[in-house]
Amino acid sequence: MQKTKILRNKIYPYLISIGLVFFTTLLGEFVKRRLEPTNIVMFYLLVVVIVAIRWGQGPAIVTSILSVLTFDFFLIPPYLTLNVHDFEYLFTFAVFLVVGIIVSTLASKVREQIIQRQTEKLHSALLNSISHDFKTPLASITGALSAFLDSNSRLDAQQVKELLETARGESERLNLLVNNLLDMTRTESGVLRISKKPCDLRDFMGACFEQFKSRIGSRNIEIEFPKDMPEVAVDFPYMLKAFMNIIDNALKYSPDGSPVEVVGSCIGRKVQIVVRDHGCGIPKEDLGHIFDKFYRVRNAGNILGTGLGLSISKNIIEAHGGCISAESILGKGATFIVEFPTE
Ligand code: ATP
Ligand code: MG
Repeated sequence: MQKTKILRNKIYPYLISIGLVFFTTLLGEFVKRRLEPTNIVMFYLLVVVIVAIRWGQGPAIVTSILSVLTFDFFLIPPYLTLNVHDFEYLFTFAVFLVVGIIVSTLASKVREQIIQRQTEKLHSALLNSISHDFKTPLASITGALSAFLDSNSRLDAQQVKELLETARGESERLNLLVNNLLDMTRTESGVLRISKKPCDLRDFMGACFEQFKSRIGSRNIEIEFPKDMPEVAVDFPYMLKAFMNIIDNALKYSPDGSPVEVVGSCIGRKVQIVVRDHGCGIPKEDLGHIFDKFYRVRNAGNILGTGLGLSISKNIIEAHGGCISAESILGKGATFIVEFPTE
């Protein structure tokens, strides 16, 4: 499927360029009695420039050559032949071709430069975002440890405990961030090697919530799977990571004490797992972006995060041949729907 998509993306520009040349020739047919052929050439040149800027050198060169041929065949007397009466036109053709090739080379260079600049911009935006995420917990850890060291033993046991807990919490956050970044690069580079083994989804969910024991507190976690739920083949550690990110969000973006529901079902040859929380929800306009890396909803308030969790989950779920989507009613909660094949 990916190959057809790549092939289609490569062929489309050529097809559209050919279409544009024929459209220009048609236009030339309408105006050829009112305009000198050397002026009609300008329309073709415009098409070459547009094609070069939009799709680069290859389609632009094809457009230049095709333009000269159709221009000669349809718009230069004698019509419907490639012969020319007036040899001056040969000069026009030659100049057109040279100009076409120069323009397409220049335009494609500009295109490359723009892309390069966008990539550089993206890289520095990513670096800024990552350094900021590193700086905050590091500052808190340094702050807590300095307060402890500078206190000259004047702190009571409770205060010492609080400082150390802050340092530990922030270290855990740093650890999570580094792990997320590593997972991101691992799952994104397309080399994700998953080794699937049959697994019972109820056990899987149990193992997943086990990781959040300390954060669940008084929350009601409802896990509902039908009795005849089939086993599915998954890479346990990776899939665990995928669901841990979803559940981490469900706990993080909903108030303490509110319930989280997990409902499993089997639809044909697919299993579906729905994770629902009753928290702040996600604005409609953000729903399409939350799976992008580093994307965070603006009104996420002061809830900490890097915007990597869901993109990692998506990579992992897709590597299993599955898909993930989200629905939400703002202020009422968010629902994440994961589907993957049973085989
Ligand atoms: P990270 O998971 O990397 O620590 P994060 O939680 O901000 O950071 P994602 O898990 O990728 O990043 O989620 C992207 C954004 O989607 C979040 O910042 C949040 O705004 C929104 N979001 C995700 N899950 C929920 C949810 N259950 N309820 C409300 N908003 C959510
Ligand atoms: Mg998250």
